[in-house]
Amino acid sequence: MSEKKDYYEILGVSRDADEKEIKRAYRRKARELHPDVNKDDPNAEEKFKELSEAYEILSDPDKRARYDRYGHAGINDNDFNFEDFARGGFGGFEDIFDMFFGGGMGRRRGPQRGSDLQYRMQISFEEAAFGAKKEITIPRTEACPTCNGSGAKPGTDTRTCPKCHGTGQIRTTQQTPFGHFTQTRTCDRCGGDGKIVETPCPNCNGLGKVRKQRKISVNIPAGVESGTKLRMPGEGEAGDPGAPSGDLYIVIQVKPHKIFKRKNDDIYCEVPISFVQATLGDEIEVPTLEGKVKFTIPEGTQPGTTFRLKNKGIAHLNGYGRGDEYIRVKVVIPKSLNSKQKELLLKFAELSGDEINPEEKSWLKKVRDALGV
Ligand SMILES: [Zn+2]
Ligand SMILES: [Zn+2]
Repeated sequence: MSEKKDYYEILGVSRDADEKEIKRAYRRKARELHPDVNKDDPNAEEKFKELSEAYEILSDPDKRARYDRYGHAGINDNDFNFEDFARGGFGGFEDIFDMFFGGGMGRRRGPQRGSDLQYRMQISFEEAAFGAKKEITIPRTEACPTCNGSGAKPGTDTRTCPKCHGTGQIRTTQQTPFGHFTQTRTCDRCGGDGKIVETPCPNCNGLGKVRKQRKISVNIPAGVESGTKLRMPGEGEAGDPGAPSGDLYIVIQVKPHKIFKRKNDDIYCEVPISFVQATLGDEIEVPTLEGKVKFTIPEGTQPGTTFRLKNKGIAHLNGYGRGDEYIRVKVVIPKSLNSKQKELLLKFAELSGDEINPEEKSWLKKVRDALGV
């Protein structure tokens, strides 16, 4: 095992720090080290994870006591519930969210757009072909209904930030030998909101956001396929007050069909027919996405022949019209015949003479030419 850093050192607290101090230190560090604000640092996720681990141990009296006594040796993997958010998906998102949600956070990092969410949806082959309306439930953050997302307890004032006078930004002008330089940065007093919450909203602890299980109906257009990403603007996580919500992405996964295979917008299937039907022709029923249709097999159909049913395929996703359906004929040779049937077939062979295999002569000639015998 590689050498692990001291948990107190990671959090930057002394060994006798109390619960409150640890919590405060964690929040401060979490904001500082969060990968979203350290996009340039390739180790950001690692550092952040380290921090979460340290907090998970030191915030739990039992785990902390063990750590104090035995160091890292007193801690095992079961002590960590923290999910590796780098894996993405909802598992990670919840942890991150819980952390920022923890309450009592007086300051924000400036009005940030909400995060995007991703949802994997499995649909049937038919739903992909014809489109569908689906309802899903996703956990997400929304503007707090109690304070309308302001973060201030209803009836209390949000004060205009005295440092930036409500603009959320601080401008500094420098006089240099090359002229004036004006720099703008996010106000550190209000975090860019322009307002300061005096009394935090009790429902959302001043964050302006709450977690919700939200039902969303999704219109799946006809023609989607596995991997298609549908974007639902504004259906992701709530942003900070004044900032837009993130988007929701629905990633489609189409279940395979029992009969049909898909290639682009065309569909393929195999239809078994008897050698008599192949020889004499017949009207048969073939499956389509909309049920069975009648189809005439012409006389003398060869095994493996493919027929096309126009416009019986899948709708084109971003246009008009549909693909086609292809049916491939599989001629089934009977495996056992009774004596009467055999007799009739032999009779048939006799009547046909050479004509029973019209390709035989040319085939034999090819073989002779090829082998020189
Ligand atoms: Zn609220
Ligand atoms: Zn300000």
